[in-house]
Amino acid sequence: MPKKGLLQRLSEGPVIGDGSMCYTLEKRGYAKCGVFTPEAVVEYPEAVLQLHREYVRSGADVVQTAAFYSSDDKLAYHRNETVEISHCSASLNKAACELARKAAAQNDCLIAGGFSPVPSFRDEGEAAARKEFAKQAEAYRDENIDFVIAEFFHDIAEIELCASEMKKLNLPVILCMRIGKTGDVNGVSVEECAVRMAKTGADVVGTNCSFDCNTTLKTMRRIKDALRKENINKYLICQPTGFLCPDAEDHPNGFFALPEYPLCLDPRIMTRVEAHKFAREAWELGVNYIGGCCGFEPHHIRSFAEELAPERKRNPPVHDMARAFGGDFFKNSLTSEMRKESLRTAEHWYGIRPASGRPFSPAMTEPVSGMKFQ
Ligand SMILES: [Zn+2]
Repeated sequence: MPKKGLLQRLSEGPVIGDGSMCYTLEKRGYAKCGVFTPEAVVEYPEAVLQLHREYVRSGADVVQTAAFYSSDDKLAYHRNETVEISHCSASLNKAACELARKAAAQNDCLIAGGFSPVPSFRDEGEAAARKEFAKQAEAYRDENIDFVIAEFFHDIAEIELCASEMKKLNLPVILCMRIGKTGDVNGVSVEECAVRMAKTGADVVGTNCSFDCNTTLKTMRRIKDALRKENINKYLICQPTGFLCPDAEDHPNGFFALPEYPLCLDPRIMTRVEAHKFAREAWELGVNYIGGCCGFEPHHIRSFAEELAPERKRNPPVHDMARAFGGDFFKNSLTSEMRKESLRTAEHWYGIRPASGRPFSPAMTEPVSGMKFQ
């Protein structure tokens, strides 16, 4: 039986995306912090494949190629003798597709070809940027992928340009911007970004990265309302960061502007219980495709799949080892607390307020003003 495509799956219920690749691979020692190198697909293919497989086992419907920041101009950008260029975009993308195909085969998952922003757009102009996007599209042409997804764009004009090249593949197109309260890099509002993304002809629009689940839900509500006002019907996607960062809500670059970025963010990682709550709220808001970005780990995706199991009419593959909110396995626990029935409920866990374990740790910090990407 041929596998169901993205649009059919979206019409039938929630689609669950995967979590962070680049950021998680960096933590595991397979990417360089700061530049977030994509070479792991060639240098440590087994590490990339293992992480893909963990997301698939957690219930992801999609395996996204680990090709973030793999355009030739980005590979050459900010590199020198400490971070040399060891591979080209074409070879990285080919390897990324092969790994995604292997992992996707395990659970009838869809393969998503990723597109990310290119430095040429700002430094050299539209023609040079188009060339990079066209090369990326060409790399995906014969790789048997199911749809394409642009992520992390902070300039509506750049994602519009990227979309025009993505569309040449004749596959479903998803566009995501890393926008929050203040809109894009030039201050174009969330509402205008939403309508302009939709008008490129993309099938799914929304946000990813930079902001946490709560800020992202506020942005998604604005996107939904803006599209409704224009009588535009589109599927919605969001893939927030796995870090809780309400203090970064007003900063255009979200959690990247926090002083803890990138080495001290760990205490902010959302719990699997918070991931449950977010999946429910996102689905009820009308978000059709729910996944995760930087900071997300497989157990967060598992929470999405467990929470939305009734709508999806199936449990994630990991159900043989895991149950939502403890479940039956807790009955055999060695601790008396875990054996209590009252502890195995969503209400109990929703009531827990996790501590950081650091007596002098503040609840929030101040974003660094003026921080920008360049
Ligand atoms: Zn991210």
